[in-house]
Amino acid sequence: MHELSLAQSLLRQLHDLAAQNGAKRVSKVTVEIGPLAGIVRDSFEFGFTTLAAESPVTHGAALVIKTSAPEYQCLDCNHMMPASLHRPLNCPACQSEMVIPNGGSDIVLLQVEMETADGS
Ligand SMILES: [Zn+2]
Repeated sequence: MHELSLAQSLLRQLHDLAAQNGAKRVSKVTVEIGPLAGIVRDSFEFGFTTLAAESPVTHGAALVIKTSAPEYQCLDCNHMMPASLHRPLNCPACQSEMVIPNGGSDIVLLQVEMETADGS
């Protein structure tokens, strides 16, 4: 369960952030899942929701997931090709076939909305 452990580490990050900011609750989280992360989005959402419910800090937190297509890079001339779901067969600049995806393979925390404790 790759997704479950990723959801777990995301939640750990959220708890740390909440503690650092003196927040009592995390209300909304926006993450970007890299195109090469190989994450099943539904499983990740499910894992997050399930685990988030176990803590009062993250209980009911909304999860917004953004995904992006990878960019491609030519290994021969370093030409960058725009993001696309399909790998280009050749580099348009030098015709090399040494084209590799160049994109995130992890989960990036973009934005966290927290409710801070209202003092006394
Ligand atoms: Zn090239």
